[in-house]
Amino acid sequence: MSAWSSLSERVLAGQLISRDEARAVLHAPADELLALLDAAFTVRRAYWGRRVSLHVLDNAKLGACPEDCGFCSQSRAHQSPGASPSGEAPMKSVDDLVEGARRAHAARAKRYCMVTATRGPSQRDLDTICAAAERIKAELDIELCASLGLLTEAKAQRLAASGVDRFNHNLETSERHYDKIVSTHTWRDRVETVQHAKNAGMDTCCGGIVGLGESEDDLLDLAFALRELDVDSVPVNFLDARPGTPLAGRALVEPGYALRALCMFRFVHPRTDLRVAGGREITLRALQAMALYPANSIFTQGYLTTGGATPSADHQMIKDAGFELELASGEAVPADPQAVAAIAAPVRRGPSLPVARS
Ligand code: SF4
Repeated sequence: MSAWSSLSERVLAGQLISRDEARAVLHAPADELLALLDAAFTVRRAYWGRRVSLHVLDNAKLGACPEDCGFCSQSRAHQSPGASPSGEAPMKSVDDLVEGARRAHAARAKRYCMVTATRGPSQRDLDTICAAAERIKAELDIELCASLGLLTEAKAQRLAASGVDRFNHNLETSERHYDKIVSTHTWRDRVETVQHAKNAGMDTCCGGIVGLGESEDDLLDLAFALRELDVDSVPVNFLDARPGTPLAGRALVEPGYALRALCMFRFVHPRTDLRVAGGREITLRALQAMALYPANSIFTQGYLTTGGATPSADHQMIKDAGFELELASGEAVPADPQAVAAIAAPVRRGPSLPVARS
């Protein structure tokens, strides 16, 4: 038995992976990569079978965020092409958001996530999101997520009451590395928002970005902080540095490292909904399907501001790799690239943000 299969056996027996073991995963030699992926898949299969869930992001408000996250082309602090020079950004209408959810449902997505590039939702934005949530939940069998920036306790409760199932707010990186990336709010502010979402009864979706110039210890800190927070879903993004941001020009992480990082997150979070998120296509290239061995979900139809694979291409990848789709009902169905070939989202992208969400 390889060291990796013995690790998966111990994880399945309920043992928590240690920091040294997580570090060893990041250092797995290239000729052990398949054995490592197989071990991560053993854990993933125990909780998620061969099911993959598709998530669709809808950009409800783009281009004028007052925060200064160094990776983000939505910040008006950076000179990103396409950022709103006036500092104003329009909000999508309730009708547009409901229509976005219908398209996501037609693409056989399990989840539809409404996103605003904001420090936190204004009262008016919150009214729009809540009105859309109520209509979507009344009409469609789809899980509903929101990602709106920092929340107060009262705003979290209002979202939960309107039918939002899950709230996304990423920690992005370690607490130690955070102030090298963002100065307008703290890592602790983010943790607090995740706690508000949890206290309001929503599921929590909280992950980060690999490739921000973090050390190996920062990445391990992030994975273990998320375990501590006991989040329900972990999206793992890979930086695709945007022009005009302070991180512009930073190289992509190597695809082999990206796969090791996903395996590390799977071992640290055995039961969690683990998603390979922004930067998947450009970072993993021909190895994208390999990410389905540690991860059980993906975004389809692009990200906040970069295009991504179409639903049809993602259905094809899932089918070719021998996986199946998981719907919001929990039912597993075959992926069907032909059936979703005609679905295309109207393009409304800002200046190329490579991450799933703030
Ligand atoms: S990551 Fe989110 S909070 Fe930060 S600048 Fe971008 S949109 Fe604003």
